Amino acid sequence: MNEKIVAAQWYELFNRYAGDLYPGRYTPEKCRELAEMAVEIKRLSQEKQSVIVAHNYLYPEFHEIADLIGDSLGLSLDIQKAGAKRVDFESVFFMGATAKIITGDATRVFVPDKSHIIGCSLVFGTDYGWLENWKRENPDGILVTYINSDAYTKSISDYISTSRNTDKMILMALQQFPGRKILVLPDKFLGHVMKVRALELAKQEGLAIDPDLIEIYSVRKGEYWAACYVHEQIGPDASEIALLENPDAELMIHPECGCVASCLIKLQEGKIPQGKVYFLSTQQMIGHAKRSSAKRILVATEKGMIYRLRQEVPDKEFLPVSMQAECRYMKANTFEKLLASLREDKLEIVFCNDCCDPKNSYQDDKVIHIPKSVAGKAKIAIDRMMAIQ
Ligand code: SF4
Repeated sequence: MNEKIVAAQWYELFNRYAGDLYPGRYTPEKCRELAEMAVEIKRLSQEKQSVIVAHNYLYPEFHEIADLIGDSLGLSLDIQKAGAKRVDFESVFFMGATAKIITGDATRVFVPDKSHIIGCSLVFGTDYGWLENWKRENPDGILVTYINSDAYTKSISDYISTSRNTDKMILMALQQFPGRKILVLPDKFLGHVMKVRALELAKQEGLAIDPDLIEIYSVRKGEYWAACYVHEQIGPDASEIALLENPDAELMIHPECGCVASCLIKLQEGKIPQGKVYFLSTQQMIGHAKRSSAKRILVATEKGMIYRLRQEVPDKEFLPVSMQAECRYMKANTFEKLLASLREDKLEIVFCNDCCDPKNSYQDDKVIHIPKSVAGKAKIAIDRMMAIQ
């Protein structure tokens, strides 16, 4: 890796595919700095036999140096398949924790910062007291919990789900526990679209389901309200306006978006024609974009995804529905922090012998704990999901 060549390539690449996404960020000087650090990151990752994984929402430079790039679950599964001894997980904390729970003692998992810095509004917005109360009031109730949740919440859940399969997980819970109440959490928008889909799936299978059996978590906790703060601000009219401004375009929507409920209603009422709008996880967006005959595609999700789509499907035009859709937690990942992780072997996610409060795990400058009993219970719920991947 020659840093001068890399700097020149990145300057051209980042300005071609991400100049509009991050105006003014990729100057020649910035690209030189990034390239210098990239050379050292690659050297250290080889020396430490680390696999660097990065989430789709990160800055473009991470897409270029990562060994694996993808979404939360996809990355954890790829790590498991790769049999990696060490992973540097560049993303948000709950994703690193999920990877550790899935891979167990086989893989050392490092994250670049503490859990509140690389956090997530869905994690911060989960009200444990409210959940425990719901469980007391519904002693045989079933929790279907989206993977964007912390280890403790996973550990009290019956099933974990993803943006690809929450509808199927709800259906599975309905079939395995007929007549029992199901709580879908922690994202109210994703919960809403997946409830509608699960009821459609049930109908296709000839099951008569009382919709009231499926409850969507929608609790306010401080400044957070059962939603991803990034996707929530893609509000009820945003997608429809984007479609009106681009009548020849298709629209790909992540189910966490604040516009999902209104889009579903408008589709049902015929106000948005069928075949124009697709609710997709980020991983599904790649496949759909490759198959689609549309030349222009609007994308409603965190704008880091646009860089990946433009690179992988260069014959199509991808436009973000919102330029403000940028996650401060994802963007708290930097090359400086990754370098420090590799140099100083920090911060490693480790299992502890239940030494700390599972809702507020111990962390210092070197390690972050996940209590063993929490990891064990969370893994049972994750494994149920893996069975239908
Ligand atoms: S984009 Fe939303 S769901 Fe993803 S990490 Fe950021 S706040 Fe959480």
